Amino acid sequence: MKIHEYQGKEILKRYGVPVPRGIACFSVDEAIAAANTLGGPVWVVKAQIHAGGRGKGGGVKLARSMDEVKAHASSILGMMLKTHQTGPQGQKVRRLLVEEGADIKKELYVGVVLDRMSQKICVMASSEGGMDIEEVAAHTPEKLHKIFCDPAAGLTDAEADDLASKIGVPPASLLQARQVLQGLYKAFFETDASLAEINPLILTGDGKVIALDAKLNFDSNALFRHPDIVAMRDIDEEDPAEIEASKFDLAYIQLDGNIGCLVNGAGLAMATMDTIKLFGGEPANFLDVGGGATAEKVTEAFKIMMRNPGLKAILVNIFGGIMRCDTIAEGLIVASKAVGLSVPLVVRMKGTNEDLGKKMIAESGLPIISANTMAEAAEKVVAAAAGK
Ligand code: ADP
Ligand code: MG
Repeated sequence: MKIHEYQGKEILKRYGVPVPRGIACFSVDEAIAAANTLGGPVWVVKAQIHAGGRGKGGGVKLARSMDEVKAHASSILGMMLKTHQTGPQGQKVRRLLVEEGADIKKELYVGVVLDRMSQKICVMASSEGGMDIEEVAAHTPEKLHKIFCDPAAGLTDAEADDLASKIGVPPASLLQARQVLQGLYKAFFETDASLAEINPLILTGDGKVIALDAKLNFDSNALFRHPDIVAMRDIDEEDPAEIEASKFDLAYIQLDGNIGCLVNGAGLAMATMDTIKLFGGEPANFLDVGGGATAEKVTEAFKIMMRNPGLKAILVNIFGGIMRCDTIAEGLIVASKAVGLSVPLVVRMKGTNEDLGKKMIAESGLPIISANTMAEAAEKVVAAAAGK
């Protein structure tokens, strides 16, 4: 789960990370009132969307007067902000953060992620803050410094100081940088985050260390123990199809291709997408209906998939273990009739009640293409999507 920058800053502040004073706003009037409360002379008006790269996209603007605050708030609020993380259509801005302008002397980068390979927590830092850290990692990897922390030990003072020195924090500011790094680490650890990032972390003219941006992503599987974080969820920022799917406890991820996939089991779903790609097709989604799906759940899954306007064909790939093939067949038939199936549907089912399921589909009168192996199913659906 993702949250907004201003929410991330609220969390970081609790962990002792200094952030600029700021107020979240939902209207231009609120933005003006916020600027008045903060007092000048310089404010920054920032679009709040669940994507980075807002600065480059025109979603972060400096204001030196109330008129400028008003002008920037008016133009940013409601805009379709396009960044490298939003996709070509952009993301509508519904919230703003108005904060005090900081005196930036140097922009740094610090981030914390889980490193599955070493089973440790990776703390990263770079002197090249403000820009895309992916670019730094790709082109000048020597400028991205990493420390792998044992979760039992945490980030020690010595490690934090070493990292801060490597990215050019002057000796007089080292203690502050240590507090920021350890605060960020602790915030990551205690909130069950999957990513905690400050880009830029700045050094001010008078030697202060301040987080100007905050990005926190959380592990959805741990949200049950963080109701305060769940309360920060903003469903306006999430994919409507994915929200609908989560209501029915379906694991659904929208992708860019045109072949819908309905599969039981995450492993089989991944393998199905791989097979489609092997035969030259592009999956439109990942969808795992789970082990014990009911006909109703399959129907809902089908409806969610069918909402995608780019869909050209569907592949249903079911292994009947706990799930019975006749249950899937029933769901498919009901759903196809309910939504008015408008694209070719290829079905492969194996396992429990396979014969019954196949019989039900054959007798349904629906134009369903059946397949026996995964390769055959993938080949047929790729051809169908291409209109062959
Ligand atoms: P994004 O990463 O989405 O582009 P940031 O919050 O990092 O958004 O802001 C982009 C840039 O805007 C920062 O690198 C910084 O130079 C500037 N900026 C952001 N907040 C402030 C602030 N409070 N005062 C001064 N400059 C700011
Ligand atoms: Mg940033």
